[in-house]
Amino acid sequence: MPHPISFRFNSNQCIWTPSHKMLLRPHYFTLKPFNLFQTFSKNIFPKYKFTEIKRIGSLRFSSIMASSESTAVSTQNATPQPLQVAKRLEKFKTTIFTQMSSLAIKHGAINLGQGFPNFDGPEFVKEAAIQAIRDSKNQYARGYGVPDLNSAVAERFKKDSGLIIDPEKEVTVTSGCTEAIAATILGLINPGDEVILFAPFYDSYEATLSMAGAKIKGITLRPPNFSIPIDELKSAISKNTRAILMNTPHNPTGKMFTREELEAIASLCIENDILVFSDEVYDKLSFEMDHISIASLPGMYERTVTLNSLGKTFSLTGWKIGWAIAPPNITWGIRQAHSYLTFATSTPMQYAAAAALRAPDSYYEELKSDYVAKKKILVEGLKSVGFTVYPSSGTYFVVVDHTPFGLDNDIAFCEYLIKEVGVVAIPTSVFYLNPEEGKNLVRFTFCKDEGTLRSAVERMKEKLPKK
Ligand code: GLN
Repeated sequence: MPHPISFRFNSNQCIWTPSHKMLLRPHYFTLKPFNLFQTFSKNIFPKYKFTEIKRIGSLRFSSIMASSESTAVSTQNATPQPLQVAKRLEKFKTTIFTQMSSLAIKHGAINLGQGFPNFDGPEFVKEAAIQAIRDSKNQYARGYGVPDLNSAVAERFKKDSGLIIDPEKEVTVTSGCTEAIAATILGLINPGDEVILFAPFYDSYEATLSMAGAKIKGITLRPPNFSIPIDELKSAISKNTRAILMNTPHNPTGKMFTREELEAIASLCIENDILVFSDEVYDKLSFEMDHISIASLPGMYERTVTLNSLGKTFSLTGWKIGWAIAPPNITWGIRQAHSYLTFATSTPMQYAAAAALRAPDSYYEELKSDYVAKKKILVEGLKSVGFTVYPSSGTYFVVVDHTPFGLDNDIAFCEYLIKEVGVVAIPTSVFYLNPEEGKNLVRFTFCKDEGTLRSAVERMKEKLPKK
């Protein structure tokens, strides 16, 4: 039964369900006044005043929706109003990462879901930020980046890819890679343009393409190797294809695009005059092979936007410093969008980011060896629990097949895992255009300290029975 003051809402908006494209049925939204709030919500989320309950068959997940503090005083008795959102965002839900991290707190579960380290970034980078604040680097930055950071990005790119670029004309600093992706899409894609994505894909791609009015075509990468089906890619290309949006190392699978795959993509792009948007935020977390930027392939720099950020490499995901590298004519579109999205990015953090990117090689080597150890704990642990673990060459994620445990789908599995076992994973069906394709797969992250990873494995060994 819905709560007495709940209201029925004949739309699927703001309800997360991987089957939203398959099911269109009424959902119930429950408005809970503050005095009905559970203790955890009061303590941890004082500014959240709604919960939403979603129903998919027998499954129920609750999640939270934010509202501002300033409106929190007088709305307790207000008549519930339908949620408002523009059509282009109607079908998108509270992000899966937000939902799962909230549930982790609610159930006291170990969070191997959202990809943020539970350890801190390096002292020298934090010190550089503090110093920049003390040195009064606190007013607006130049829109496309403080000169020192643009230079540091160009230096790093040369070291990593061999390409020499102009920091003033070919680097745009953004608020995280997510904004770099948005500025790239909004600055370069027209409504009706076709953009090809590899599923599973990071959730912001689809939402941002939808904001731009793009037509999305999905190519599915399938286990166990998640390799690129080049023939399918070839047939997905039409005269309207404007860009391919790719991600290597790949979230959520950990797949790294091989040189052969990159060459095949490159030759299709050159032949058909297609742009490539390449999200490479996990480039420094490449374990089984060397990372290759597609921009470094012959004929590709002039049609590629290389997207990256500070967060993963320096365990500072909250800083939101990212950048887009592209030739000047393409940078023009990116900067036009960036200028009117955020205009500029946090000034002191940019100075610190420049210091970070100039870290000695030993920093990157140590980062990698720390992650190799963490990955081993998680992968071996998951295998010993009974999962089929798919090979992950890069990122701090690993995807497993959960079906040995007898749950219906990825969501049912994750719900069971949170409530009965006390561990959070990410259901992957939300990363596909056809959610059915992800129903057997869930993603775990190993960007947590070793004790946390071991405890999560122990919990699963104890409480997750094989069927
Ligand atoms: N990139 C992170 C992940 O995949 C999440 C970022 C976010 O919460 N939007 O887990």
